[in-house]
Amino acid sequence: MELQHLVGRIAAEVTPGGAVAGYIPALARIDPHAFGLAVATLDGEVFGAGEHERPFSVQSVSKVFTLALALAENDDVWTRVGREPSGSPFNSLVQLETEQGIPRNPFINAGALVVTDHLGPGAADRLLAFLREESGNPAIGVDPEVAESELGHSDRNRALAHFMASYGNLRNPADTVVREYVRQCSIEMSCADLARATLFLARHGVRNDGTRLLGVSGAKRVNAVMLTCGTYDAAGEFAYRVGLPGKSGVGGGVIAVVPGRCAICVWSPGLDARGNSVAGVDALDRFTTLTGWSVF
Ligand code: GLN
Repeated sequence: MELQHLVGRIAAEVTPGGAVAGYIPALARIDPHAFGLAVATLDGEVFGAGEHERPFSVQSVSKVFTLALALAENDDVWTRVGREPSGSPFNSLVQLETEQGIPRNPFINAGALVVTDHLGPGAADRLLAFLREESGNPAIGVDPEVAESELGHSDRNRALAHFMASYGNLRNPADTVVREYVRQCSIEMSCADLARATLFLARHGVRNDGTRLLGVSGAKRVNAVMLTCGTYDAAGEFAYRVGLPGKSGVGGGVIAVVPGRCAICVWSPGLDARGNSVAGVDALDRFTTLTGWSVF
């Protein structure tokens, strides 16, 4: 089926539902029924449907790109964060004590805080520069209202950061790391921007300008961690339904990668109980079912 026709069909068939993330006040005001879908093929062409050009808060989708930037330097970050699914909510504290301040994986909040700390001061600006280049959209920026709103309600993330600091697993002051992390989560991008920016993972590490961010193994590893950990305590269900590496955020965005073919981004702010977009997962389920494109 032709891709433009396919994305239009999926947009027409999904029923957005669920509730917006209420714990970040600026996100609680967004219409839970909004929907956008974009598929970027390896040559950079984008096929979109719905509100695929409307910017939204990327939130935890940013964690894929900070991990990729850290791994582009070397593998050192793996001494500070694991790569096992947590089976726990994204903002859970419980495993940090039994695992001596080493988060289970880089895609739960604790792990992402460590990756941001690992990138060091200016992490969010580095991320922003990378996302502008990869998406081809120099207008991408941080939504200051979302950042301020989240920072004002970040007791849980502060607790995670300070707890890890107590085990010596932060290099920078805990509150500085949380501020940087909140800025990174508050970046606004559209589905089209994110689909293009994710293409390096479909191209086995090669960026849109033909240079390499990651080696073939590096890209494989980021995709593997997305598959096993990208949707938190619903990663098993996501693999079962979608069969692709994917990463969600509480802004309602989900990115997914079909290695060797395309990158996908879907956005719908209504979330399920685990913080994953209801219509986003549904759309990806339909996409892989209709195309037969999955990693299995
Ligand atoms: N910024 C959000 C938080 O730290 C990101 C969580 C998410 O998208 N799952 O709570």
